[in-house]
Amino acid sequence: MRPLNATISAIPPSGIRRFFDIAAEMDDVISLGVGEPDFVTPWRIREAGIYALEHGYTTYTGNAGLPRLRELICADLASRYDAHYDPGTECLITTGVSEGLDLAFRVLLNPGDEVIVPEPCYVAYQPCVAFAGGTPVGVPTRAEDGFVIDVDAVEAAVTPRTAAVLIGSPANPTGAVQPPEVLRALVELAERHDLYLLSDEIYDRLTYEGTHTCLGAVPGARERTVVLGGFSKAQAMTGWRVGWLAAPAPIAELCLRVHQYTMLCAPHVSQVAAVEALSNAEGDVAEMVADYDRRRRVFVKGLREIGLECPEPAGAFYAFPSIRTSGLDAETFAERLLREEAVAVVPGSVFGPSGEGHVRCSYATALPQLEQAVERIGNFLRRL
Ligand code: PLP
Repeated sequence: MRPLNATISAIPPSGIRRFFDIAAEMDDVISLGVGEPDFVTPWRIREAGIYALEHGYTTYTGNAGLPRLRELICADLASRYDAHYDPGTECLITTGVSEGLDLAFRVLLNPGDEVIVPEPCYVAYQPCVAFAGGTPVGVPTRAEDGFVIDVDAVEAAVTPRTAAVLIGSPANPTGAVQPPEVLRALVELAERHDLYLLSDEIYDRLTYEGTHTCLGAVPGARERTVVLGGFSKAQAMTGWRVGWLAAPAPIAELCLRVHQYTMLCAPHVSQVAAVEALSNAEGDVAEMVADYDRRRRVFVKGLREIGLECPEPAGAFYAFPSIRTSGLDAETFAERLLREEAVAVVPGSVFGPSGEGHVRCSYATALPQLEQAVERIGNFLRRL
């Protein structure tokens, strides 16, 4: 047989999967493994989806997505972040941020271009760069710095092939929120070296400490920045597959060109539900965010009490404690914790080399389970 695509063959399967497979065969596992809300989509949003189905909204929409949804997204960006995009030419509805990442890299990169990706980072970032023919260049961030991006380290990684820098804030897996001064410095760096910026802001509403800054609102950023957002996390809509991309018209136009041939449009029913999410569900979102925040405080305090150092997770719904005092590497720690105490976490090394020595724990889990998980992790550590 002829060889399959070499770039894709060279990318290993996600390291998270293996732990799900082990956990699936065990009883009584407390899973802190999945990066997914434990809430069902708020009822009013589901009801809008039911309405859409009942009324036969089962067709394609226009390629760019429902005009009303694009208007709401742009109005939301303007009112919350003072970031201004034209719903007609600068906003595109995608099948989740996942598609937005894929589109943006395909449009921004030429073969062999490099993309600087601060890590540890979301597992899809580096593969998406590679799928688009680019080369991801990881730049470590450090727990001692709260996983804030070291702009000098980013600058040191710039080469004549560098085309873009990817920023995810609030971040998966660390929960770090990049402060405005770091974002400003990254924009200045991008201006100096003529780079694009790609900003994954899927966790924007899940910011507990400090405030979220939309990169598109940072002076100088707009013309070279693609902002990605969606409904999966704050609105608990992972399965609906709907998100958005905002970018200056020439970039958005090319993203639309790829999208119209590969995806046609995001699911119609989900777009109607997303209209409801932005129109009437902020109260539901606020309740979920307050709940995550409560869990975050209890969980992080619990981890610290059993002796694990845990950088303050300011956003998203992940804690990323150091497990170095255990003397185990992250993979061994996660596997033994699962087999011996039935708690599923993800080894930090899955998110990049600088994630070694940490594990990712999602606190999108009910409080009693989080408390029990802390107890079990404590038992595990004491036995070592
Ligand atoms: N970006 C980050 C940082 C994520 O953590 C995830 C999902 O875990 C995604 C994007 C995928 O988002 P979506 O469901 O909108 O495709």
